[in-house]
Amino acid sequence: MRYSKMLLPTLRETPSEAEVISHQFMLRAGMIRKVAAGIYDVLPMGLRVLRKVETIVREEMNRAGAQEVLMPIVQPAELWQESGRWHQYGPELLRITDRHGREFCFGPTAEEVITNIVRRDVSSYRQLPLNLYQIHTKFRDEIRPRFGLMRGREFIMKDAYSFDADEPGAEASYEAMRQAYHRIFQRCGLKFRAVEADSGNIGGSFSSEFMVLADTGEDAIASCDKSRYAANVEKAAARAPEPVEPPATLAPLTMVDTPARKSIQEVSDFLNVPAEQTIKTLIYQADNEVVAALVRGDDEINEIKLKNHLGAGVLFLADDKTTEKVTNAPLGFAGPVGLKDVRILADLRVRYVFDAVVGANSADAHYTGANLDRDYRVDEFVDLRLVRAGDPSPGDPEGVLRVDRGIEVGHIFKLGTKYSEAMGCTVLNDQGEELPVIMGCYGIGIGRTAAAAIEQNHDDGGIIWPMPIAPYQVLLVTLNAKDEVLEYADKLYDDLIAAGVEVLYDDRDERAGVKFNDADLLGVPLRLTVGKKGLAEGIVELKQRRIPGKDFEKVATDKLIERVRELIDEGMGTGVEA
Ligand code: ATP
Ligand code: MG
Repeated sequence: MRYSKMLLPTLRETPSEAEVISHQFMLRAGMIRKVAAGIYDVLPMGLRVLRKVETIVREEMNRAGAQEVLMPIVQPAELWQESGRWHQYGPELLRITDRHGREFCFGPTAEEVITNIVRRDVSSYRQLPLNLYQIHTKFRDEIRPRFGLMRGREFIMKDAYSFDADEPGAEASYEAMRQAYHRIFQRCGLKFRAVEADSGNIGGSFSSEFMVLADTGEDAIASCDKSRYAANVEKAAARAPEPVEPPATLAPLTMVDTPARKSIQEVSDFLNVPAEQTIKTLIYQADNEVVAALVRGDDEINEIKLKNHLGAGVLFLADDKTTEKVTNAPLGFAGPVGLKDVRILADLRVRYVFDAVVGANSADAHYTGANLDRDYRVDEFVDLRLVRAGDPSPGDPEGVLRVDRGIEVGHIFKLGTKYSEAMGCTVLNDQGEELPVIMGCYGIGIGRTAAAAIEQNHDDGGIIWPMPIAPYQVLLVTLNAKDEVLEYADKLYDDLIAAGVEVLYDDRDERAGVKFNDADLLGVPLRLTVGKKGLAEGIVELKQRRIPGKDFEKVATDKLIERVRELIDEGMGTGVEA
């Protein structure tokens, strides 16, 4: 492609609408433009990257035996009513009504539609296993669309769904996808990690997320330094605490004044007690029940663990009125002593806090010397805390957890029979019994993968595309080209194309500074600069975008295509699981 002919509107200034690097560079490199919140035009430069990611995904899905289909974006409410999700999904589901008053939604995912395909056209275990996928537009009315393609409202996802007649088959289908995902992110040239994940809105029993490692990632990942244990912090558990013996004599329960001291920090400073010796009491509304959750003062609660343990559909901190009613005290002074009529759950570490400081359920007061069973009850001990770097790892007796940031680009789930049972998707087994099929579902965000690649690979000047998903492999730049320089560059452009190289030819009549700045911004892996002086020496300058600084190779013109091909091959499939 000739730059002079391409719709490639690069921007010098960082647009104020973009908070994160990938969004800034996608706008500045002329890849995308905003149409409405979370809704984008993808311009030619952007689309080339998305198509590359799609191609890798498609090839690996096909290789794993999955078959491509195309399902509607607009899905009838009836299917969602059958699964029960029409009422469960909440406001992320964009609902629409047609001219006849019939209800539909824009598909945020397609479990219902795909289950409908299989229940209609598959009836025997002999027709299984099946894995069907599509690469298609999704719509989720995200509460906070942001970061460009990273969290859009309309976005392209590869979604695959597996159907098996029995549990070992379902296990094999999941494993095939897990391996396909490893190959996909490896082939994309990304540094990634597969982690155990919470199953969230889609349901199901077990899931793994594929994270692209980047300091700017929204997700935190805990991983063991001595074993393969890795989990999203939403789900991660530390090793269970070692039992601690109580002191020989326990302090008496004593109410003390703590005027206006509400936070753990304020109370522990005021009473001169370490935060580990305090207990935080949080009052939650879980569906229709009010519960109290206790964690050690220096720990943070993991609300996802609490919600999952309670099996609650929604969970949030109770409002002031509810909290005050339950505790008989103004906000900030809740504690477990004398707390009646609510279930009390406590994190495992609370069991070993002796002579604790807790809220006294009375304005401006706390108890010291609070001890389990003698002074307060706990109905259930469960793991409720958010893990931290340095926690003992559950993966190895010597291991310690570290926490890194990542961007979730893929998610694979074991769904079990949630949808097949609800929607009557059954097959006859070899005994002639009718059984619900066992499903899995497997997503990859195409645009998010491209954005994550930028978060992981950039410098101040712009993007540094990994070769496999770069919009072009070579940027051919001419400076003040006329006569023989122009003639040579035109011919080199044709020769590169003939050699199967994807080349963008910066043939614009611009100053060197402008061209080189755009080159850095666009992030094409190899830059060839053709100039009069070089040609006189019989060389072309080859600069690799990923090598910092201004260093370039002088490559003899007769070796040029060979060297370019060599570097392209070297740059393919360089991703690693880190
Ligand atoms: P998140 O926790 O980030 O909201 P999710 O758990 O809702 O993600 P899934 O339902 O598992 O996401 O969707 C599968 C994949 O689709 C994700 O791994 C991600 O790559 C992509 N994806 C999800 N939501 C968006 C979005 N709003 N914009 C772009 N890609 C998305
Ligand atoms: Mg989501």
